[in-house]
Amino acid sequence: ALELQDLHKSFGSLAVLKGVSLTAYDGDVISILGSSGSGKSTLLRCINLLEKPTQGHISIGNEALMLKPTKSGEMQAVDNKQLDSLRARVGFVFQNFNLWPHKTILQNIIEGPTQVLKIKKEQAIIDAEKLLDKVGLLDKKDAYPANLSGGQRQRVAIARALAMQPRVLLFDEPTSALDPELVNEVLTVMRDLAEEGRTMLIVTHEMRFAREVSNKVVFLHQGVIEEIGTPEQVFDNPTSERVKEFMASHN
Ligand code: ATP
Ligand code: MG
Repeated sequence: ALELQDLHKSFGSLAVLKGVSLTAYDGDVISILGSSGSGKSTLLRCINLLEKPTQGHISIGNEALMLKPTKSGEMQAVDNKQLDSLRARVGFVFQNFNLWPHKTILQNIIEGPTQVLKIKKEQAIIDAEKLLDKVGLLDKKDAYPANLSGGQRQRVAIARALAMQPRVLLFDEPTSALDPELVNEVLTVMRDLAEEGRTMLIVTHEMRFAREVSNKVVFLHQGVIEEIGTPEQVFDNPTSERVKEFMASHN
């Protein structure tokens, strides 16, 4: 399980997350909705420690991250090794793929496993080819990112995240940079992962996908959870007026 307790994040005087508590049990697929600026990306970035939370606790599996405040008010990991090992357990798929342009698709995927997990190159290649096959791109293994479509690049980014054997996968609007006709190929891969029982947190504007694939939906507003529930509850019977309005304008 992934557990967030009372997570806070401020940038200077701007409080962006104001106490978010959320548990993702193994196999949970949680969609995170909310209007622009509500703190969705910041929340995912804090989970992966791309941003340091200013307060709160994060634990993944049996591993809890201890944070202590610095003079500037930022939290810092007590133990940097612990920080790295926690980070390695979280896969992150960004809106803009973030593949290395000068590496082939295969090299992009084996980089993390060989460098961080210290898996032998031969084994990493075998694993990478399996993952590429899974996302339907084995024939592109020697191509460079520039020669792939956006949808293909995003599927490579997913394979790359999986190669790190993460406990949790985070997706930040993985399809919003794609041409409409390329969205489905990425959603299909994500749907397969959900059916495999992967634990996933997904920030998305794909309402239909969120409704069909997730078992929990979180609505974030101004850095707090405004509503949380099953897709049926949050989409069809929200209690918050704000969520009702949001759903009405996103249909
Ligand atoms: P969107 O739907 O547009 O992606 P979001 O819900 O992901 O929005 P965030 O990107 O988390 O929103 O941003 C929340 C708030 O935090 C915004 O007001 C944003 O300007 C601010 N913010 C985010 N990152 C930083 C940063 N590095 N420094 C200062 N402010 C930031
Ligand atoms: Mg965002």
